[in-house]
Amino acid sequence: MFLEVALPLPFTQSFYYAYPGEPLQQIQPGQRVLVPFRNQKLTAYVLTTHDRLPEDFPKDLKLKQVLEVLDANSLISAVLFNLSCWVANYYFTSPGEVFKACLPPKINPKIQQCFNLTSAGEHFLKRLKHTLESQYRKGQLLKLISQHAGVDHQRLQKLAKRKISTAEIRELTNHNYLRIEHTPKLQVSTKNQWHVSLHPNYQKSLLSTKLTHKQKALIVQLEKNGGTTKLSNLARLFLVSRLSLKSLEQKNILALNQETVSRNPFEASDHSLDVLRPVISSDQKEVLLPLMQALNSHRFSPFLLHGITGSGKTEVYLNLIENAVQQEKTALVLMPEIGLTPRIAQIFRARLGEIVAILHSGLSLGERYDEWWRIKRGAASVVIGTRSAVFAPLENLGLIVVDEEHDPSYKQQDSPRYHGRDTALVLGKKNQAVVVLGSATPSIESFHHSQTGKYGYLSLPTRIHSRPLPKVHLVDMREDFKATEKRSPLSQSLRLAIDHRLKRKEQVLIFLNRRGYSAYVLCRSCGQSIQCKYCSITLTFHKLQKALICHYCSYSRTIPRKCPHCSKAYLYFIGEGTEKMESLLQKTFPEARVARLDRDVTRRKDAHREILQRFRQRKIDILTGTQMISKGHDFPHVTLVGVISADHALSFPDFRAAERTFQLLTQVSGRAGRGELPGEVFIQSYFPQHYCFQFVTSHDYHGFYKKESRFRRFMHYPPFTTLAVILVKGKNIDLAAENIGRFTKFLQRSPNSEIRILGPTQSPLAMIRSEYRFQVLVKAKSRSKLQLLLQKALCAAQQASLDLRNIHIDIDPVNVM
Ligand code: ADP
Ligand code: ZN
Repeated sequence: MFLEVALPLPFTQSFYYAYPGEPLQQIQPGQRVLVPFRNQKLTAYVLTTHDRLPEDFPKDLKLKQVLEVLDANSLISAVLFNLSCWVANYYFTSPGEVFKACLPPKINPKIQQCFNLTSAGEHFLKRLKHTLESQYRKGQLLKLISQHAGVDHQRLQKLAKRKISTAEIRELTNHNYLRIEHTPKLQVSTKNQWHVSLHPNYQKSLLSTKLTHKQKALIVQLEKNGGTTKLSNLARLFLVSRLSLKSLEQKNILALNQETVSRNPFEASDHSLDVLRPVISSDQKEVLLPLMQALNSHRFSPFLLHGITGSGKTEVYLNLIENAVQQEKTALVLMPEIGLTPRIAQIFRARLGEIVAILHSGLSLGERYDEWWRIKRGAASVVIGTRSAVFAPLENLGLIVVDEEHDPSYKQQDSPRYHGRDTALVLGKKNQAVVVLGSATPSIESFHHSQTGKYGYLSLPTRIHSRPLPKVHLVDMREDFKATEKRSPLSQSLRLAIDHRLKRKEQVLIFLNRRGYSAYVLCRSCGQSIQCKYCSITLTFHKLQKALICHYCSYSRTIPRKCPHCSKAYLYFIGEGTEKMESLLQKTFPEARVARLDRDVTRRKDAHREILQRFRQRKIDILTGTQMISKGHDFPHVTLVGVISADHALSFPDFRAAERTFQLLTQVSGRAGRGELPGEVFIQSYFPQHYCFQFVTSHDYHGFYKKESRFRRFMHYPPFTTLAVILVKGKNIDLAAENIGRFTKFLQRSPNSEIRILGPTQSPLAMIRSEYRFQVLVKAKSRSKLQLLLQKALCAAQQASLDLRNIHIDIDPVNVM
């Protein structure tokens, strides 16, 4: 029998291995096997079994054997296996890496070399006289290995108290003194908990023993607890450990037992949430009706839930989930970055209880491992997670919610590349599930599908309790400059508005999409700016670190006194970041309590949660920050939102620049006036005539959609075409340019009136991390024709021995830079 397997490496090819086992043993798709690959042992995933090799399999290739079957049964369900194959095919990405994403982290064993002595080795050791130094070293190792059979390299070094080279080991194996075995070792440890209980005969034993005060108190406490408790509880109360309880255990007074428990990612979160169930509003009722019907129909039903900010989408999701759970179905909720809005996951947990599992990269590996198994076992039937949770092992999936479906973070940019929202739709189809895409600012694509009837369209057009949307003012910064004759990032009107809120003890959010102090450093003499050494990006000045830092590769350098290009001392700093904004706000409003939220201040674990909590408790008056403050937060006392500048985002060389800016501004504006008091928003711009701003101020999504989609239709962009970007990266500029040129030729080989091939060109970000970047943009009217074209080109490229590892295909790219 032969196995065709996928490897967890960034390429799409599959590999064949001979399978020596009994054919009786059922090998299932997705099952993990250990295979030799280029001097390594890797965990591979079974794609299919074959009776014979394919016709075109090279005759002279010696087939290697599968070393071990790692799972008794495949841990990947048939549905997830199919989904993974779809992802690998559609996104031209590695199937092995997708299968890996279907399993808990660190489940693949680490392969360890274990040493044992052979009889020749033992013989040699017996007759060894330590005369020569080399003999001495050999003898030391053999002796240690004979004393510690099965020892691994690391431990051997510890025992020998010195570094042992692989050459030294090789010498021993060459002499045939050593046998090396490769044993898989689990990488995750389980969390165990000790329980202390009173021994059944403890009262009898007490009579014959003298006890200390502490021991007596401990027994009284245990009796109070019904005879048993967690060791950690006793440890806290009596400062005892497992060791110090040993004597009581030996005297048959106590019994200690160990039990494996799941690590709980909610343990640290604040439990002060009220879990009141609000009375459903009439709007909510109206959208729930068709959704519940769809849930009862057990058929694939995709919906777009277009609900403005503060319209109560979360409550709709909760009701739907409860209904799904009642039907004994499971539910999956995807969110862009739960780490940024921890409260939402807590609300789900508070409402639905233990059946909620959470999956995101902010959890520890152990927590993720345990949560995965809780889902697999069926103990958790509702999963809240980021994009990779689309591969969670849920059975009988009835409902999928993709919240903030427009968010670009649903696209995974590294291998395995996939779009979480689109993959969720395919998963929904395979499960005959209801899929709800929710957003206040739907992507142009999803809204288009809701208009053509591909998705059902549901809307929540008003805020809860008919609260008004905030009034949005556009501040023309050119006029502000004329009036004040000062260039300040805070316009006069925004300054006044902040002042008002502070007097009324209301809260303010100031949004600025750039961290650091100054955006860049420019030389007044030669006009050059200081760039990253490795990327075609200007460096950002960070005051606290006293450094210029690259936001792409983290390269950092000291601040030069003179211009590195012309050596004149005319450097000056332009543009402001959140760091400067924070100090400017503090200077302007000395009485106010100002804080900042961005990636720089949240490096410390828990900092993010603490800042949000202090803001919620109104211990902060003004919070300034990046995107982090724009995400779905619900702070009822925020009545003012200021946007320092949105011009930068609009000027990106990407066809989605206007869409992104509209979404961002609408989302940040949506943070204002969510409580009893109405909100106000100030957006500052040097280019206020752009249509994007006009539609943001009038809260007119439909108007924006109409304008934007007309533009997309004219320019042949999605949703009217499908895109792929082919990116070639390389340290050698000539080679990279040549490769993109050759690949473009392969693309052009089969001309098709429905496909346009644009390029090759240098990417807008021409260099990142010392790698030059070139790209081709392909626009196609039909998805299947695009797939076919790319497949053909890849085949041709492979035949021409082009190195495919440097060619990255990005299907449905979320940015084309
Ligand atoms: P969205 O996600 O649509 O911006 P949320 O789901 O955060 O809005 O809801 C906004 C606020 O309204 C929240 O504080 C939520 O608790 C509250 N809310 C939602 N539904 C109701 C309801 N039916 N009655 C009262 N309050 C509600
Ligand atoms: Zn850089």
